Amino acid sequence: MVKIKEIKTKNIFSKTYYRGYSYVINPYVGCSGGCIYCHACFIQNFTKHQNQNWGDFVDVKRWDGIVRTKRTVVGRNMLMSTITDPYNSVEKEYENTKQILERLREIGCNLTICTRSDLVLRDIKIIKQMQAKVCMSVNSFDETFVKNTEPNTTPVKDRLKALKKLHDKGIYTILCISPIFPYITDFKEIIEATKDYVNEYWFENLNLRQPYKISVLNYIYNHHPELDEKYDDIYVKKDNQYWFLLKHEIMEYCKVHKLNYKIDFRHS
Ligand code: SF4
Repeated sequence: MVKIKEIKTKNIFSKTYYRGYSYVINPYVGCSGGCIYCHACFIQNFTKHQNQNWGDFVDVKRWDGIVRTKRTVVGRNMLMSTITDPYNSVEKEYENTKQILERLREIGCNLTICTRSDLVLRDIKIIKQMQAKVCMSVNSFDETFVKNTEPNTTPVKDRLKALKKLHDKGIYTILCISPIFPYITDFKEIIEATKDYVNEYWFENLNLRQPYKISVLNYIYNHHPELDEKYDDIYVKKDNQYWFLLKHEIMEYCKVHKLNYKIDFRHS
């Protein structure tokens, strides 16, 4: 059960230098997705949620209109979101994301929406009108693995159906293969199955930081004991050879198959 509360905020835009975007928009604090590898869980330390589990709380932001931010937004590259899913389950009732889209449609900006949810289809008309891009994240077709690591997200087959539908409606689609779990995520399999309706691929590696590093490694030790040593090499001994080789394999593959792509591998 997700604990929801409303909070007042002055501004929903935050400055960023991430991937050529000027601002990020996070309509919520926290996320019902509860993904075990979610880097956004650091926010718990700054928002009085230290004693709750990631995925168990969502603060719904409330603001006095975003009209005043018009000068900030017009013509800018904006990303929604980086530390929540704009279509997490709370959005169904509170519609923060929808309200923001409606306002941005009037103002005009270059928006990319990042999600793991097919709820994005609810807003397909607005997205089309404002010519926003939609980025759907997927890292495996193994639904058991996905359920274990992303307990409250949309099944992968439904995410892909949604992405196809968006593409069929003429919306620019991005498939973010993220996070890439070493020796588990098969990027070629995902591309092969989706290339007919994806305009661009993004690749992000599994970058384990505290405090979630331990729980992800424990998940691997318990569910994929055959990968123990390999994960220790990467995440305990910090040997980045795997990522170096994978990056080159991805670049080569995308070049051969003439795919638009961006790789963002980070190492803690
Ligand atoms: S859906 Fe995205 S923001 Fe939400 S918990 Fe999962 S990775 Fe984090």
